Amino acid sequence: MTPEQFRSNGHALIDWIANYIEGVERYPVNSRAQPGDIRASLPEHPPMAAEPFADVLADLDRVVMPGITHWQHPRFFAYFPANNGYASILGELAAAGLGVQGMSWVTSPACTELETLMMDWMQEALALPDRFRSTDARGGGVIQGSASEATLVSILAARWRATNGAVNTTGDTSKLVAYATAQAHSSIEKGLRLAGIGTAHLRIVAHDNSFAMVPADFASLVDADRLAGLVPFWVCGTVGTTSSMAFDPIGAIGDTARQNSIWLHVDAAMSGIAALAPEYRWVNEGLELADSYCTNPHKWMGVNFDCDLFYTADRAALLGALSILPEYLRSAAAESGAAIDYRDWQIPLGRRFRALKLWFTIRDGGIGEAIEMIRAHVSLTQDLATWVAADDRFEIVAPHPLNLLCLRLVAGDAATDALIAAANDTGVALFTRTVLDGKVACRVSVGGRATGQLDVRAAWQLLQDVAG
Ligand SMILES: *Cc1c(COP(=O)(O)O)cnc(C)c1O
Repeated sequence: MTPEQFRSNGHALIDWIANYIEGVERYPVNSRAQPGDIRASLPEHPPMAAEPFADVLADLDRVVMPGITHWQHPRFFAYFPANNGYASILGELAAAGLGVQGMSWVTSPACTELETLMMDWMQEALALPDRFRSTDARGGGVIQGSASEATLVSILAARWRATNGAVNTTGDTSKLVAYATAQAHSSIEKGLRLAGIGTAHLRIVAHDNSFAMVPADFASLVDADRLAGLVPFWVCGTVGTTSSMAFDPIGAIGDTARQNSIWLHVDAAMSGIAALAPEYRWVNEGLELADSYCTNPHKWMGVNFDCDLFYTADRAALLGALSILPEYLRSAAAESGAAIDYRDWQIPLGRRFRALKLWFTIRDGGIGEAIEMIRAHVSLTQDLATWVAADDRFEIVAPHPLNLLCLRLVAGDAATDALIAAANDTGVALFTRTVLDGKVACRVSVGGRATGQLDVRAAWQLLQDVAG
């Protein structure tokens, strides 16, 4: 592709993207493809000869689109959102255009310094504790690909601290024990497996009828493990669980964690972003006790996947666990302590210039645009809750202070399963099934950038219609 072809193909692609986003409502929300359909519509072998870009673009429509579930659709109420935004898409494009690999400060100083500034901007915008700022010698933040990676690096830092670094050489994790509720994200068990702790050393702490951790149960499990000669080392408190958006009492968990030198990680992947709006800053309760924290602009802020903000108040432990310094990566800037090498804050060595899409998004809409979106989603969810409560065929099964509503049919599990299947089958809207303390529920996650009142009304109409 020549530069001239790049210009014209690029313009064509930008038009294609804008047309797609503008017209996304014309598609059924979920893909109708059967396994194997997409591959079967493409040649089995790569072409030896060049093909025109126009053909590739045409195949995007012909082959790829039928295999797309439309996450940007305003009636996508499934999972949690993965919003993009025009400014973010352009930031992504700029990152690809620059093509830098920002593993170290010296490999592109702007890549590191813009990221550090974005982490500090977001610390301020979210009103997070100052100990997470990069200007605090002991703390700081970094963009991870996902909350799952944030969980893993948090476990690794905690593991390093609990063993005074010995784990790096001995690999001995046999005494370490971790804690979370059954409502916590699956990445916690995965992270513990990866870190050599193992599922058998994950204690499942009781939750109450709002699906939040019972701190007294956490304290007694810790006592029992200590008595048994084990080393409680890591606890995850969740701010907005995936299944029902429950809020663990972080302050109370943090008190026990402090008393027992346990690393407190707070997973606020979805709901942490709510703190952009001052009236929702209660989601930050107890964070001054957290050793690490994460939240995802790629869910609720219009920054396209992947962009997870990971903060720690103990960067020494993180670096202790993750820094590796072969000769070819040495630099005077890093050795003087004047520069950050983010490769030591994450699992991979290489890293993309992800700060650009956050920077573009914040500058394009200000923090104010995200706040407006958050407020609108919360308000729409509360409207929906009022409508659901007025229909005696339905019941609401979990508290819903923000933008997730979990409902079910009073008629029971089989009826609720049939409701979800029938609703999703229409392609008009998309919901996710969950099970809360043994009961099937339909999650309605109101988080699409383009989702408005008509969409929430349509979703409710659909649920009422298929409820029969
Ligand atoms: C979505 C979610 C995750 C996983 O986020 P990724 O960034 O996709 O890994 C983890 N924890 C909670 C509470 C979530 O809602």
